[in-house]
Amino acid sequence: MSEISKIAMSRTWAEIDLDALEHNVKILRGLLRNGAKFLGVCKANAYGHGMLAVARKLQECGADMLAVASVAEGIELRENGVTIPILCLGQSDPELAELICKYGITQAVEDFENAKLLSQRAIEINRKVKIHVKIDTGMGRIGFFWDKHDHKAATEIAELCKLPGLDAEGIFTHFADADEPHYTESQIEKFNDALETLSKLGVTFRISHAAASVGVLKYPHAHFNMGRFGLVLYGYESTENGNEGSNLGLRPVMTVKSRISAVRKLPANYTVSYGRTCKLSRDSLIAVLPIGYADGFPRILSNKANVKIHGKICPIVGRVCMDMMMADVTDIANSGESVKAGDIAVIFDEELVKDDARKANSIIHEILSQVLPRVTRVYVENTNLRFKA
Ligand SMILES: *Cc1c(COP(=O)(O)O)cnc(C)c1O
Repeated sequence: MSEISKIAMSRTWAEIDLDALEHNVKILRGLLRNGAKFLGVCKANAYGHGMLAVARKLQECGADMLAVASVAEGIELRENGVTIPILCLGQSDPELAELICKYGITQAVEDFENAKLLSQRAIEINRKVKIHVKIDTGMGRIGFFWDKHDHKAATEIAELCKLPGLDAEGIFTHFADADEPHYTESQIEKFNDALETLSKLGVTFRISHAAASVGVLKYPHAHFNMGRFGLVLYGYESTENGNEGSNLGLRPVMTVKSRISAVRKLPANYTVSYGRTCKLSRDSLIAVLPIGYADGFPRILSNKANVKIHGKICPIVGRVCMDMMMADVTDIANSGESVKAGDIAVIFDEELVKDDARKANSIIHEILSQVLPRVTRVYVENTNLRFKA
């Protein structure tokens, strides 16, 4: 084992199972309707899994396209060996046209004025920016606002597709509430209307896409010709916590672990951690874990979440600190097992992540993507453990 992974695995680390990622890609690709392309979403450090390793693996697994949130993320991928198409989903300053071209990034375009500026900048350097036009069919975030009865957006899109600095490869939309069929169907209908209306104006696109993870699973008629896979890639079928999904057999990719730094006997009525929010009801054995909110463990889960030690559920007691938190291991000790410094605590696995998301009144996306850089990623591939930055 390398020196650096030895150091990482003496405190807190995230095991990233690239074999599980490959397994998930195979299953998810199988869901797509004939010929639809596979886009892997790598934004936000690949939902905390490590953007470079995940992107390289997706490329190796034959993904057709990757998505990032910003030009900076796209550049990082290009500078590290990613050669497949990269779609930047977020808005980018048209002044970045030169970089967007230089690094071969495909840019989402959501507004007529920005499209014109982007085209102008591209022309100045004798290039074309490849774009995907974003339609707002009901998300209320970015995109051309689509109204069936007012074709202002259609007129603008038709015009921008002719701009000499742009190559309009794709068109897409995003669902606001994929778990809710009625609203989603209305979005699909609007998107179909957009495709039809534009087609009548002589504007067609090589790639059209609408569905992200839940969308692909629930609306096969909304696959168009690409699926955008985010959360499901990482092994979770649904954002609705506790919802069992459709049991596709996906495997979770990330497991966060900490090595217990001390196990201490504390008397009944003693209080644990800042603010004295936990008063021990009995003589207790308390394990100190070298992970805190500055590693990405939500402080709001103080006195609420659990970890697993020796495979057993142990409650977090007291406030989560910046770099440490405490778990009650009295029951393990009472059952006759010894718990000692150096033993491993599982902080996030599939069950804990779902439970934590629910208790934090949040979603799985947030719990995963908040695992911060201080937590070293250790990659498992071909069932071997290796370290990669
Ligand atoms: C983040 C994002 C996705 C991925 O969403 P998941 O629910 O994680 O699959 C897809 N499309 C867009 C536009 C996004 O912003």
